[in-house]
Amino acid sequence: MSVKMNDEDIIKRFHTVVGYGRVIKRKPYLHHDPMWEWRLTRTNDILKLSKKFLPFMGLRRTKQILTATKGKVPVKKRQVLKIVPECGYMKPDEISNRGAHKHVRVGEKPCPTCAENQHKYLRQWRKAFFEANK
Ligand SMILES: [Zn+2]
Repeated sequence: MSVKMNDEDIIKRFHTVVGYGRVIKRKPYLHHDPMWEWRLTRTNDILKLSKKFLPFMGLRRTKQILTATKGKVPVKKRQVLKIVPECGYMKPDEISNRGAHKHVRVGEKPCPTCAENQHKYLRQWRKAFFEANK
């Protein structure tokens, strides 16, 4: 979503009023004046603002906004996994992803043993997959 214009002050005021996005100066084309652009690229911000803009838009832009945001869902916040010490979920020689899954399910980063076991498991799985599809 963007708004482009030659007036720097208008674009900057628009930016402060809206409170989202960023303002960039576009390189002038040949003898033209520099262009100022307010840009919004984050999906969640676009979804939030386009709803607020709708009542102020004409028929054509309303249609455009509706087609552009149709079926779009807000992006979920990235989960930050907690770092934990050795857990004892798995034996060191066990080859499976059970422990790593258990860690992620409770919001933890897999401990070194579980991560190593998952790595071994995936390597084994990959090898078996390529053997089967030769
Ligand atoms: Zn573990």
